[in-house]
Amino acid sequence: MKVARVKSGKANAVKKRIAVWLTALMALLSVLLLVYILIISDTVATGTTREQLTRTVRSNAQLVSIENGRLAVDDGFRYAGNGITTLVYSRNESLLAGQVPVGYMGDEPFRDGIIRTVGEGEDSYFVLDLWVPSGWEDGVWLRGMTEAPDIRPVTVNMILITLVTLPIFLLLAALGSYHIARRAFRPLDRINATAETINEARDLKGRIGLPAGKDEFSRLAAHFDEMFERLERSFEAEKQFTSDASHELRTPVSIIKGACEYAEKYGEEDSPEERRENIEMIHRQANRMTHLITQLLHMTRMEQGTEGAALLPLDLGAETEDLVAEQFPDMPSLTVSAEQGVTVAADRELLGRLVRNLIENGFKYCREDVPAAVTVTVSHTETEALLTVRDNGIGIPEEEREKIWTRFYRADPSRTNGESTGLGLSMVDRIACLFGGYMTLESEVGQGSAFTLHLPMVR
Ligand code: ADP
Repeated sequence: MKVARVKSGKANAVKKRIAVWLTALMALLSVLLLVYILIISDTVATGTTREQLTRTVRSNAQLVSIENGRLAVDDGFRYAGNGITTLVYSRNESLLAGQVPVGYMGDEPFRDGIIRTVGEGEDSYFVLDLWVPSGWEDGVWLRGMTEAPDIRPVTVNMILITLVTLPIFLLLAALGSYHIARRAFRPLDRINATAETINEARDLKGRIGLPAGKDEFSRLAAHFDEMFERLERSFEAEKQFTSDASHELRTPVSIIKGACEYAEKYGEEDSPEERRENIEMIHRQANRMTHLITQLLHMTRMEQGTEGAALLPLDLGAETEDLVAEQFPDMPSLTVSAEQGVTVAADRELLGRLVRNLIENGFKYCREDVPAAVTVTVSHTETEALLTVRDNGIGIPEEEREKIWTRFYRADPSRTNGESTGLGLSMVDRIACLFGGYMTLESEVGQGSAFTLHLPMVR
């Protein structure tokens, strides 16, 4: 199978991109801040002047009126003061009182109550007109004016300062963001490097080994390490399985080959009895291979999930009775004592395989001095359903009890006949796991063994 290799692209691309984005964001924010400051400073700088102008013109408006067609100005009317000049105009806009400031060149039409800026630069004025009605029809215009504060130099200075400092500021921002991104991405670099080493060296032993933490990278690294661990274990198991399987298959094949070669060479001289024995041996070994291949196939399918277990609730007692009756009909030495109504989640086909393997072992590893007897029991505790297969066979020594669950392990190969593969119990164990349960074993050498399947009960 061809595996696409990951191209080793620019290792720093993401960090650089983060630095560029952050710097661009800062540049944008700085420009916005500058515009905001300029607007604010304009409002602050002119706000007081505008307020004073309004206040003066309004208080002057209280002190002026037309009486008998003539202008009457009360004491306290301020024509000039605080830089504010107030002029009084007639209804038809001719100057009645006050003196136009020297610099004011404007010829501004009257507009009631609105402050306008008249003129440019240093000669610009804020102008506020107020119509002061007097009597039914008459009245006067009051025009207040004051020099507008010139904030242009300040604005120009601020822009100049910004133009000079902004690039330095942005450079620092870019370096800072790159540095931060590099620090933040350091664990990712480690993850990358480990994955790359594993990929290139094809050695699954590498681990990232980040210190435990709650942040995203620590968790990612922990997940990766877990994954590498599992991969390594399954890879090792696969390797072991392949080498064991080929070894196991090679033995019967070489026996068959040897027997064939012998028959070819000396077949003519053999007695019919010897010939029959030779053929029987070939037959036995062929049977052994068939059995081994069938077991391997079942196992591989189960591992790959193609023989997907459909876990359905079933009555363990009733099913066990049926399965035993189907697979071992007419066997007085095999007794079943099954409690009914113990429901578990299981797959009938796989349960059948599990029970068959245990019963066959019970008979296979029997003692020579007593007739073999196997009992199958189904019972339950408060939480678990129990299926026990008990025999009166040779028993299993303490030191073998752990090992017999591993593939191809046979405690006593001298006893095994053509049917022994060392795969049965490992398959039993796998099936128990698949059903969410586990196996236990009690045994006494020379007395017998009891294998028990524990399954969670379904209510
Ligand atoms: P196989 O029976 O094909 O050798 P198993 O995986 O079923 O493979 O069993 C592994 C080993 O465990 C057997 O070779 C045997 O030595 C031992 N064993 C299994 N079942 C029993 C039993 N009921 N009594 C005694 N020994 C047993």
